[in-house]
Amino acid sequence: MEEDDLNLRYLNYIEQLFAAEDSALQEAFNAMRTNDLPEINISASQGKLLQVLALAIGAKRILEIGTLGGYSTIWLARALPPKGKIISLELNPHHAKVARENLERAGLSNLAEIRVGPGLDSIATLAEEQTDLFDLLFIDADKDNYSNYLTQAFPLVRNGGLILADNTLRNAILDDSPPSGTKQYNLTVAARKDLDSIVVPALRPRGMDGLTISFKR
Ligand code: MG
Repeated sequence: MEEDDLNLRYLNYIEQLFAAEDSALQEAFNAMRTNDLPEINISASQGKLLQVLALAIGAKRILEIGTLGGYSTIWLARALPPKGKIISLELNPHHAKVARENLERAGLSNLAEIRVGPGLDSIATLAEEQTDLFDLLFIDADKDNYSNYLTQAFPLVRNGGLILADNTLRNAILDDSPPSGTKQYNLTVAARKDLDSIVVPALRPRGMDGLTISFKR
């Protein structure tokens, strides 16, 4: 059996058993297609991984950088307690509109807030607002800015919180000239003494990638 076929069987096994999409997630995915958003959302199994990680640390406040159509936002928001909050940052107003509709349909509008604008600007605004610290940061946006997002959002994450970054394996290995933003990101978190980090390979329908998981000491 070809390795690709085998990977697809692994993925189907995991997703059917642990990460079956309900109608809200399926409709979110369909709405992204209908509205011409790029199909670069996380997979269902990754969504479930994010959800389990958020639950494991009792996350009440989550910051997401890169909303796209809100697919990952739904998975994460479902880990929150009734008075929890996920703030998701999105550059593209059209993406944000689709995401808001998806969150509304999923019944999560009360937990999720989408802010439109360049990510670094939105993080700066959050810092000025001096809101409560976040338990979990999920970076899933333009790769060249990954290290900048980390630097700028790091003070907004509590000690004992998690910093997660998507798409950190494939580009880091295959896109080497010039060094990719995700490669730089992995080098940075691996060297930091205040973070314990690992890249977890992630199966997805279009091949393998990775999620970098960092625990803030
Ligand atoms: Mg991604």
